[in-house]
Amino acid sequence: FLIFCFCLSLNLWSQSPALNSPQVEKRIDQLLKQMTLEEKIGQLNQYSQGAATGPGTGRSGYPEMVSKGEIGSIFNLTGAKETNQMQRIAMEKSRLHIPLIFGLDVVHGYRTTFPVPLALSATWDPALIERAARIAAKEASTDGVRWTFSPMVDIARDARWGRITEGAGEDPYLGSEIAKAYVRGYQGSLDSPDSIAACMKHFVGYGAAEGGRDYNTTEISDRTLREYYLRPFKAGADAGALTFMSAFNSLNEVPASANLFTLRQILRKEWGYKGMVVSDWQSLLELKNHGIANDDRTAAAKSILAGVDMDMEGNIYHTEMLDLVKSGVVPVSVIDESVRNVLRVKIALGLFEHPYADDTKSAFDGPIPAAYRQEARKAAEESFILLKNDNAGGHAVLPLTDVHKIAVVGPMADDAEDMLGAWGAKGNAKDVVTLKSALTEYASAHNIAVTFADDANSIPADADVVLVAVGENASLMTGEAGSRTHLDLPGHEIAEAAAKSGKPVVLLAFNGRPIVLTDVAPKMNAILEAWFPGVEAGPALVETLFGVANPSGRVTASFPRSVGQEPLYYNALSTGRPATGVDLTHPPTKSEEKYHTRYIDEQNAPLYPFGYGLSYSSFEYSAPKLSAASASAKAINAGDANAAIKVSAMVKNTSNRPGDEIVQFYIRQRGTSVARPVRELKGFQKVTLAAGETKNVEFTLSRKELAFWNIDMKEVVEPAELSVWIAGDSVSGTPAKIEIKP
Ligand code: BGC
Repeated sequence: FLIFCFCLSLNLWSQSPALNSPQVEKRIDQLLKQMTLEEKIGQLNQYSQGAATGPGTGRSGYPEMVSKGEIGSIFNLTGAKETNQMQRIAMEKSRLHIPLIFGLDVVHGYRTTFPVPLALSATWDPALIERAARIAAKEASTDGVRWTFSPMVDIARDARWGRITEGAGEDPYLGSEIAKAYVRGYQGSLDSPDSIAACMKHFVGYGAAEGGRDYNTTEISDRTLREYYLRPFKAGADAGALTFMSAFNSLNEVPASANLFTLRQILRKEWGYKGMVVSDWQSLLELKNHGIANDDRTAAAKSILAGVDMDMEGNIYHTEMLDLVKSGVVPVSVIDESVRNVLRVKIALGLFEHPYADDTKSAFDGPIPAAYRQEARKAAEESFILLKNDNAGGHAVLPLTDVHKIAVVGPMADDAEDMLGAWGAKGNAKDVVTLKSALTEYASAHNIAVTFADDANSIPADADVVLVAVGENASLMTGEAGSRTHLDLPGHEIAEAAAKSGKPVVLLAFNGRPIVLTDVAPKMNAILEAWFPGVEAGPALVETLFGVANPSGRVTASFPRSVGQEPLYYNALSTGRPATGVDLTHPPTKSEEKYHTRYIDEQNAPLYPFGYGLSYSSFEYSAPKLSAASASAKAINAGDANAAIKVSAMVKNTSNRPGDEIVQFYIRQRGTSVARPVRELKGFQKVTLAAGETKNVEFTLSRKELAFWNIDMKEVVEPAELSVWIAGDSVSGTPAKIEIKP
């Protein structure tokens, strides 16, 4: 029983069995005994094929290094023939026949490109995300890739940061559910040849880059770190993620890639994590830029001592480690531990038994399978957020009905490349069905005339509706190094010109982050946030525009009214001078008290808050119903299942159209030892409701939902006055009160 409790406290049972098997450890012991120090260090080096910059540039010596056992992993090498060729050197020519592991950034699909991760998060559908990740793993593994540098689970509260597109937005609860889904999808049954190792990145705090400027410093209190930034990482570790990646940023003055507190204390000691930690691209070399190492030697020593097992493309474990060990700066036991972590992952994936990919089939043979396209289309449709939909002349602008002539303006309508978004892995623009091609086909089958133009200068006078397709340049403006200070929608002038036509205008916004639509929105009759939807962009848009699909996407990163509001997130703290009940639409007048937390020139609220999104259906919520009006903190802390409270509400589809609603469960705690957010997501369910149908949706309040890092830095449930909401977004709904007694 004691062993059971011990393992439970270290989460050993929830992590992958392969990471905690005595047989595996024995096997590693035997290998370690045979390995020379050089061979051990070799396992800790990772290089990129065809690196454009840095020490790997033009290096042609990989085959020789591999044959000498000097490389543990190669990434960006794809194609079964290519990976097999390199693997054959490792398996046949290296002394101990230890397989290489081939990695790649498979971020939102491999060949079948799905919507960008921020879009996928807007589906609030972990099962769908798991299926997308499974497809990506199946495709990537055909080319020998058995390790993806995904999911990126960085909580991001600042839309200026370009990499917000790679994650699941601002919320730790949703982010954790999604993190688990990616891990399940990628890793599948782990030792099967179509499984690929997941990598939780970037550990940790990268998303809090000051000013939203990529790679910038982060300052995060320990409590905020644990309460928000660490949660999705923990969820991924518990779901069995085989690897972690240490981040570029410095966290509270200590670079994340040499951070003893996060890598050793939290990840290894507190969480008992047994997977492997790889650095980010040359992030070990960057310790010199950060100013905590004056040379490669110190950088290498600091990183390995902090717990970074594998050096991605820095080449400094290769050049420095042997001497560091020989001169006693780095104990052999530290090297052994890192090698152990690397080998554990290779064993878990079954690489020793099945080192080669089947080179008779590739994800690039023939067209993308119809079933994969179907999933990609569904993912895109579920990711679209209907931000606005006017009622004109008694009926809504969308879905389009009774239109005979459509004018489409804007460059995105036929832009295949941008539909792939940032980090398209092996996505090919040729596989993308654009809006132009899908709409042309639909229109000809339905007797609708459609015209396309890049700008709105000559809209046909007899058009019934204008569709404006504009947005960000995916590769320049989003993703790594894609930070912006102006969050306007590129091409908004085309939308504004279209609005002058006097015809109903539908804005289709293609972007990888929350954008500022404050000036544009009032001029549009409908707005569909389309993100970068992937290979099925066109069909998904057409099905949505014509009502074959009904939008159900919801905001996962707040859309600001103005850049000046950033960082902006719903789960904020109240201040001592809240602006509740204050009219924020104009600067304070002389007679109004001005000392509130507010801007004099902008409202506090976002334009589109977390959780928000419209549907072609409409939904109504009953007040929350409670199984009990109070509970005992002591009993909940003790894990007493009977102490949990059930909260439920009736949700009704009040329209005559079937639709999906994302039912959200929020809480607020008052009277606690530390201040808690004005609302926190603690559950959600995507429910399908037929026209007129009502369903009872129930959530549970237990330790998992109620515990927080209190004044003593203990994660516990405290006595509190609790408000709970079941609502369609983070700002509406009527709360019910619960008392959490001591
Ligand atoms: C990025 C990582 C990525 C790595 C390998 C780095 O620049 O920060 O997210 O996994 O490159 O491509």
